[in-house]
Amino acid sequence: MLTLNSRNVVLEGLAKGQRSMVLRLRQGGPEPLSLEQNEALFMQSGAAVGPGQTVLALERNANAAAHASGRIIVPDEFDYLGDGDVLAVELERPAVRVLYRRNSRHNSFLLTERCNHYCLMCSQPPKDINDDWIVDELFQAIPLISPETRSLGFTGGEPTLLGERFLRLVSVMREHLPATALHILSNGRRFVDPQFARAYAAIGHPDAMLGIPIYSASSQTHDHIVQADGAFDETVRGILNLKTCGQKVEIRVVVHQLNYAHLPVLAEFITRNLTFVDHVALMGLEMTGFAKANMDALWIDPVDYRQQLYEAAAVLQDFGLPTSIYNHQLCTIDRRIWPLAAKSISDWKNEYRLECLDCGVRERCGGFFATGRSRLSRHIRPMREN
Ligand code: SF4
Repeated sequence: MLTLNSRNVVLEGLAKGQRSMVLRLRQGGPEPLSLEQNEALFMQSGAAVGPGQTVLALERNANAAAHASGRIIVPDEFDYLGDGDVLAVELERPAVRVLYRRNSRHNSFLLTERCNHYCLMCSQPPKDINDDWIVDELFQAIPLISPETRSLGFTGGEPTLLGERFLRLVSVMREHLPATALHILSNGRRFVDPQFARAYAAIGHPDAMLGIPIYSASSQTHDHIVQADGAFDETVRGILNLKTCGQKVEIRVVVHQLNYAHLPVLAEFITRNLTFVDHVALMGLEMTGFAKANMDALWIDPVDYRQQLYEAAAVLQDFGLPTSIYNHQLCTIDRRIWPLAAKSISDWKNEYRLECLDCGVRERCGGFFATGRSRLSRHIRPMREN
C-alpha cells in the first residue's frame, strides 16, 4: 500500500502563518530549474537548486538539499513521487499529504468528512466537524493539476452538504480542467431540491457523473442501511431531478448480507423506474471503517451470492443498461459476468495474494483491498481464461 500521508517529516525555512501550503513538484536535471510560487523542486540526488527555492527531498537525499532556502524532508517511502504531483504541506503539525499523482488513474479528493447518512458499511466514517479548510486547500490545488488528467473524483462525507461551495468547486474544475472527467460520489439527496439540481446542471461541466447509491428496492431496507429515515425517497427523487436536467447519473450498489438476497429485485426496480441512468455499478464491500465494526452483520462471502450477482447483472444487461462489477475477484464470480468486472480498486490500496501468483487471469482481476484483510472469500484460487 502506498504511503500518501506522513507526519514523519522535517520542515526547515518555510514561511509560517498559514495552516498549510499546496505545492506542485517539479523534477530537476543538472541545470537549475525556475519554479513558480506554488512549486517545489523534487530533489533527486545531484539536482541543481536555484536561489530562494523550496525543495522536497527524501531522507536519503537530505544532505544534497542542505543549501536550499526551504526544505521539506520526507521518508524514503515517498520515492514514487514525480514531476507534476501535488502535495499539501501542513506547517504546524508538521505533515505532508499527497493530493494528486500525475501518473495515477485513481486520484480523488475528499471534500468533507460531514455526512447526513451513517451507512453501516461506510469506509470513511463521518465526523461532525468544521472542515472547511479542505475545500480552501482544493481551490489552491486544482489549478496545479495537469490538464491532461483523464479523470478525477470527489468523495466525502457528503460533498453536496457544502452547498454553494460544492457548486463552485465543480465550476472551478470545469474552468481549469475542461478535458478531465469528474466523478462525484454523493447520496443524491440534496438534488431533491430542483433549484439545486438546476444550479448544478447550469455549470455545464462537459463530463461530470454523479455516483449515487441505492442499496435496495425496499425503502425500509435502504433507509436502515444508510441509517437515515426518508433517504430512499429523497435519493430517488434527486436522481429524477438530475435526469430531468440532463445530468449523468450512475447507481452504485454495495452488496452485503443485508441486501444480497434481493439484488435481482433491485435490478428489476432500476430497469423499471430508473432505466434512464447512465451506468450501474455492483460493488464488493471494503472491510474498513464501519464495515469492519459491523463485520458480522454485513460480511458474506461473494461466492455465496454469485447467483444473485449474476442474475442482477443479467437483468440490467437485458435492458441495455451499462453495468460494471467493481471490487470483486474473478475467482469468486460467475464466469459469464467476467466481461463486466473492472479493476476498480484504487492503485494505492490494491493488492494480490499468494494464490494470485499462479493465476492466468490476474491481469484482468481487480484483486483485493489492502485495507480490508480481515475477511476473505474461501474461494480464492488460480483461474484460467477458458
Ligand atoms: S486467484 Fe487472485 S488474481 Fe486470480 S482470480 Fe482469484 S483473486 Fe483474482
